[in-house]
Amino acid sequence: MLTVDGLSVRYGRIEALRGVSLRVGEGELVAVVGPNGAGKSTLLNTIAGRKYPSGGRIEFEGRSVVGVAPERIVARGLGLVPEGRHIFETLSVGENLKLGLMASGGRTTQAEVDELVERRFPVLARYLNGPAGRLSGGEQQQLAIARTMAAKPRMLLLDEPSLGLAPLLVDQVFELVQQLHAEGTAVLLVEQNAQRAVRLADRSYVLRSGSIAMEGSREGLLGDFERMTTTYLGS
Ligand code: ATP
Repeated sequence: MLTVDGLSVRYGRIEALRGVSLRVGEGELVAVVGPNGAGKSTLLNTIAGRKYPSGGRIEFEGRSVVGVAPERIVARGLGLVPEGRHIFETLSVGENLKLGLMASGGRTTQAEVDELVERRFPVLARYLNGPAGRLSGGEQQQLAIARTMAAKPRMLLLDEPSLGLAPLLVDQVFELVQQLHAEGTAVLLVEQNAQRAVRLADRSYVLRSGSIAMEGSREGLLGDFERMTTTYLGS
């Protein structure tokens, strides 16, 4: 469904990604784990069209997305939940969700968004008219995911959804990701929380200093946890 091949990305003289290749199959949940500064956000932002690569290929459902405007990429069914959530705090929860609906390019309706929120995001359904800034950190993360899901993506790019959340809320967010995946949405999840992400994902890649250092299935990586930890920590 998603193929990234030999991807390189620079910020001036800094090479943030060097020849990264990965793939996500139909309906798969794939994680990219790595420490601070490994290039995880750069990877997702480049796939989502927010950053232009200096080399390599990115194809979604067989067509290149390199050079395609971010809003066109969303309309093609690839949705990003950015790091830090970026919700509009002074707008209501419902208005934030409407922005997601507007980004869908007509592929979904308000009734479908209402149904999704009722079914999958009951906490948000209770606060639809309240300001989004009053939600807790975990609820704001749910809103960021719901806003992206409102555009009905076939694949979700999730940038560190557990960041800054208490352990119980991390559990809730990971369970939500698991449910969305079980309902058929493919997911590319990037996380510093390697152990949790590897347990959740069908397959994972370890990204270190802009390159893929290791990859494997859930069973394979957990079976060789020591080597994965050593690779992750780089020692
Ligand atoms: P974190 O978990 O801290 O968000 P990350 O794995 O997502 O880290 P990136 O944010 O993608 O990593 O950063 C990768 C590298 O690119 C780092 O060396 C970072 O300093 C650099 N970098 C990221 N954004 C910029 C920018 N706008 N200008 C210059 N360098 C940048």
